[in-house]
Amino acid sequence: MILSQSNTIRQPAAIQYIIYWCGNSIVYILFRSENVMADDKLYTLPKLPYDYAALEPYISKEQLTLHHTKHHQAYVTGANAIFEKLDKARKDKADLDIKATLKELSFHIGGYKLHATFWENLAPAGKGGGGVPKGELAKAIDAEFGSFERFKKEFTQAASSVEGSGWAALSVSTTTHHLLINQIEKHNVNVYPGFRILLVLDVWEHAYYVDYKNDRAKYIEAFWNLVNWDEVNKQFITHNKK
Ligand code: MN
Repeated sequence: MILSQSNTIRQPAAIQYIIYWCGNSIVYILFRSENVMADDKLYTLPKLPYDYAALEPYISKEQLTLHHTKHHQAYVTGANAIFEKLDKARKDKADLDIKATLKELSFHIGGYKLHATFWENLAPAGKGGGGVPKGELAKAIDAEFGSFERFKKEFTQAASSVEGSGWAALSVSTTTHHLLINQIEKHNVNVYPGFRILLVLDVWEHAYYVDYKNDRAKYIEAFWNLVNWDEVNKQFITHNKK
């Protein structure tokens, strides 16, 4: 009997398998490998907390599907590929361009994390999305900005004026416990150490081009109908423990 190996598949899980052809049958041989990385080191694409069409008419099913399954997935894949590269280099005791590798990794992890936060920040309009902040967050916004309207104006200006591709974010300082609006360029530039991100708006063109073409302002205006303030308030309470 001749077994011919046709394919070896590397899995992120701690199991690899080899497929052999044996006559007309396929035989899978499973084995554990010490070379495979631990599952908990790798990223996976989180499920959306709503259907792809649930944010219409403000974000279309087509736009949201592309954004989640293509763009967000790309950061998951990118981060995991770098972890595998680092793992292999360490095992082989090989040199890497550490500066370039870490820069690329921060881009992908930033992209992964900001998108995960963005999905959680949104809810269908009128069903958790839109309206005004409540609870502790509402008080903190009033104390910092004077009013919700002033906050909304500054956040909108931050989102409108991010150069190139980037994000607007509301964050809270773990040192002073004050709120801060920040712009994040790409996914990783202008992130403030010690500030926890509570609310983000993706203003990369891939986030709105299907629906709004180059009209970023119209997309930002639509965003306010989808903000899940209950969720943002929960994040604020969680990350602002004194
Ligand atoms: Mn995006």
